Amino acid sequence: MLNRIYINDVDEKNLFEEVANDIAYALHKFDLQNDKQIAEIRLKKMVQELIKAKDDAVKANKLKSEFLAQMSHEIRSPLNIILNYTNFIKIELDEGNFDTSSDLKGSFESIEIAGNRIIRTINMILNISELQTGSYEPVYKNINLKQDILDPVFRQYKVNAISKNIDFSIHYDILPTVYGDEYSIGQIFSNLIDNAIKYTNKGFVKIRVFSSPDKSVAIRVEDSGIGISQEYLEKIFEPFSQEEQGYSRSYDGNGLGLALVKRYCTINNAEIDIRSEKAKGSSFQITFNGLE
Ligand code: ADP
Repeated sequence: MLNRIYINDVDEKNLFEEVANDIAYALHKFDLQNDKQIAEIRLKKMVQELIKAKDDAVKANKLKSEFLAQMSHEIRSPLNIILNYTNFIKIELDEGNFDTSSDLKGSFESIEIAGNRIIRTINMILNISELQTGSYEPVYKNINLKQDILDPVFRQYKVNAISKNIDFSIHYDILPTVYGDEYSIGQIFSNLIDNAIKYTNKGFVKIRVFSSPDKSVAIRVEDSGIGISQEYLEKIFEPFSQEEQGYSRSYDGNGLGLALVKRYCTINNAEIDIRSEKAKGSSFQITFNGLE
């Protein structure tokens, strides 16, 4: 309710008028001050947005250059292998130099490996782009981890491990079923095992399936390979990043595997934990925290 003030005394009236004028003036100043403050805040925000836009543009440009450099290397070198072998086979056939079919077989195997390397790179580019545009649609269901994913991936990589003389093993403490997206979980383990074998020149690659202390399903892929430096570990999930870069690097790869693994873990509410020491080896642990 509004309280009315009755003013009888003239002096009191003047005093009230003065106070009212002071309040009006103060309010006006406050408004101006407020406008100024709001303008300053807006300006600061605009400057921050401009700086962020510039940083994003620089990052996008850097990513584009890295993408082009990596892709041209990863696509051009296997294509060169295919073309060189095709040319070689043609010349040798023309000159009648192939005595046995095993001479030819070796050349075809190299062509097949190179062809698969190109397909893998293209598939990985498509996968990361699907994830980045949000168009990947996971299909959630119960998965028997041993039968549906780990045993087939293990069989697929066994030949690679044998050819490098690596002690390759898988051990199940538990036989779990996880609720998740089969394709992306398969990709997580293919990429981790592919890397473990690729970056191990001697020793072992061990896979262990166990129950973590909080009873979650955990899978550890451990190797005795070249290891990863602490500085690089901080950016290991960035697309196209590799610890050793440039055309002269010692290993094939496009730098997309772990970027995909990280995003596929998010889709399946799984955590990834990496421990590594240079020249000693690495261990990648995936823990499934369960989907709602
Ligand atoms: P790439 O195609 O180069 O293997 P990834 O995204 O799969 O790309 O891995 C990124 C980088 O992380 C690799 O280039 C390599 O430097 C490092 N890395 C990944 N896994 C391992 C591992 N098991 N041992 C050592 N280094 C690894």
